Amino acid sequence: MSGKDRTYISVILPLRLDWIPCYGVPEGEEVLPGDWVRVDFAGREYLGTVDKTGIVPDTEQARIKDIVSAERRLWPVSEEERRLWEAVADYYLCSTGEVFKAAYPTMKISQAEALARMQERENARKERLSESLMLKIQKTEDMIRKKKQMLSEKRDRPAGKGKSCEILEASIARLEEKAGQLRLKIEETRHGCRPERHLFQDAAITLTEYQQKTYMEALKGFREHKPVLIKGVTGSGKTEIYLRAAMETLSQGKNVLYLVPEIAVSRQLKDRIQSVFGDILLTFHSEESNAARRDTAEKIRKSGTEGSQYFVLGTRSAIFLPHTRLGLIIVDEEHDSSYKQSSPAPRYNGRDVAVMLAKIHGADILLGSATPSLESVFNGHCGKYRMLTLGKRYYKADEAETEIIDTAAERRKNGMAGSFSRKLADRIRETLECGEQVLILRARRAFSPVMQCPSCGYIPKCPHCNVSLSLHKSPDRMVCHHCGYTTAFRPECPECGTALYGIGSGTQKIEEEAASLFPGARIARLDSDTPKTLAAETIKGFGTGSIDILIGTQIISKGFDFPGLTLTAVISADSLLGVQDFRADEKAMQALEQLRGRCGRRDKRGRFIIQTCRPGHPVYRQLADGSSDLLYETLLLERKEFGYPPFTRIVNVAVKDPSLQKAEDMSARLASILEQTFGNNYPEQMNIETVAGPFSPPVDRVAGYNIRIIRLTLKKDRNLHDAKRRLSATVAAFERQYRYAGHITLDVDPD
Ligand code: ADP
Ligand code: ZN
Repeated sequence: MSGKDRTYISVILPLRLDWIPCYGVPEGEEVLPGDWVRVDFAGREYLGTVDKTGIVPDTEQARIKDIVSAERRLWPVSEEERRLWEAVADYYLCSTGEVFKAAYPTMKISQAEALARMQERENARKERLSESLMLKIQKTEDMIRKKKQMLSEKRDRPAGKGKSCEILEASIARLEEKAGQLRLKIEETRHGCRPERHLFQDAAITLTEYQQKTYMEALKGFREHKPVLIKGVTGSGKTEIYLRAAMETLSQGKNVLYLVPEIAVSRQLKDRIQSVFGDILLTFHSEESNAARRDTAEKIRKSGTEGSQYFVLGTRSAIFLPHTRLGLIIVDEEHDSSYKQSSPAPRYNGRDVAVMLAKIHGADILLGSATPSLESVFNGHCGKYRMLTLGKRYYKADEAETEIIDTAAERRKNGMAGSFSRKLADRIRETLECGEQVLILRARRAFSPVMQCPSCGYIPKCPHCNVSLSLHKSPDRMVCHHCGYTTAFRPECPECGTALYGIGSGTQKIEEEAASLFPGARIARLDSDTPKTLAAETIKGFGTGSIDILIGTQIISKGFDFPGLTLTAVISADSLLGVQDFRADEKAMQALEQLRGRCGRRDKRGRFIIQTCRPGHPVYRQLADGSSDLLYETLLLERKEFGYPPFTRIVNVAVKDPSLQKAEDMSARLASILEQTFGNNYPEQMNIETVAGPFSPPVDRVAGYNIRIIRLTLKKDRNLHDAKRRLSATVAAFERQYRYAGHITLDVDPD
């Protein structure tokens, strides 16, 4: 067991451990980094992957267990994958095991075994197939030999007729061709595909002059090994530039990863990519079946051994695929908050991890958005990224004209009909009369987001979360938008029996109002209540003009290209500003700008209408003036003044507990320890607290857990890395001291 010649390895396990456990490898057995091994940890068997070999254990050797076995049937994890896990764990203050778990979520032991068995079966099948093919080849070759023999005998005989010789020759040629085909087929069976080089038609992409210029600039950035950020107005043709760069990468024999925030967006995109690159396109996202995802992973791995090429279109989790020969990463709509994983760990931002991945592979990276994040713009300003601007649209229409409607003023003038101002309703009618389309955003789904009793003020709330329930219609029910809790709708107040009434209107109610305001119009709704297949149909229908008015939540503002759309409106825009958060204005600006970009994408100028009670808000004003650069400047200045990212780094420490008392006690205790550890790093006049809280987040109880947040604001200097290490060590010590593991989470760069 603990023989003198055994060696030691460290093994990454899918667990939240702040150390990497060590195991012995018996003499005669050999494993390499990245190999899969079965080990016993705390009485349970796990499948893990070898981190390092030949290590010198720092515990007593007799206490180190041997591995249970080496799992030879699984593909080893590449060095690049392990380096990425380490980088992610280091940056996001989690364990390498947690990243490993995110990268191989289906690698539970049984599934891995099933996969291995499947591979064995598949290999056996291929073996049988090639054997039978070999037999056929032998037979064919025998026949060729015989016929050749006959041919030479015939030729030797002077009386031989020329004609029969010709027949024999032709038949030999046919047989030889058949043998050749059989040999190819064997190749194919062994390698899964015919090794071939992909040639793409350059003609599939023709850049305009300014697109070409931007592309050339991007190439310069790649040569400097800098991430390239394209800030290009919607409709400027960023996609064409991405595809041009992808073509270049693929023709050099390297592979491409194209990230999108959500897969709903990528339907149109998928068709476009396929039209250029054909069947090397693979998709990868969390809504695909495990089998489909495994299949994609296999194809990518094969690319490494067989030189076949791929172009993956995927959501953030596609980062953790076993990439090989990666030459280019594209991060489309890089500002989108869907790139951030909020739970479970690793709480990473796909955009930033993509930059790490590119570095590990020495790949180029291209970020793009009409409304880039302040973080990326800042990186552009300080030269870390090469920032390029595309101000021209492909089609000649100008940016949509923006109109702000003051709903408070309209209400005083009796100018409101429910959620719609008469002005907006008139604009919608005009648009419909011209045979054009209308898009309406309402940031909240449901019929009524909040219900209340008009006589006693009672508001129905979720029993598990500290939020009000929303009324959804057909079927009528009350739903919690945080945990999904659903209950039947009872129209009377349980306290006093008065009929409840709805406060505000969600998308369902807007849809109902629109139906009565615009009779005859074909109206559809799109939000996260819409079933997946219906959603795809709706997007398609709006694109082809079979829907006149589309009403939805923010999902409708993401990346779609609707040729007939000329009027876009936001009902109750202020709900976009509502959240108490340092990113609120940035997010609102991005949401509105994206929405504005949806309309008038062809040759006709569109109109963009904002209904608000705060018409003077700088986000609306600057949007209407078309001065997005100025807005960026203003927002960045504010962030600097108040010590927010990107000028500092924020880590949220969340304490979650079913008991309110404990959540409060433990968070207060932890905050005071952090206070002692970090003190205040900032000069007083800067008004920045290093350790703030504990405070209650806007929703302070979710799914039965009470939540308290302690916010750490760290200086972005060379001590940052140390400070982060110190933070995780302090939290780990706290968890041990109070036996409080599982209640505390760290979120670096919270959204
Ligand atoms: P963005 O992603 O910057 O919003 P898109 O790439 O969607 O813009 O382009 C907007 C529209 O213009 C699309 O319909 C696209 O097909 C078209 N387009 C842009 N550039 C070109 C080009 N070079 N050749 C042909 N069509 C283009
Ligand atoms: Zn709930």
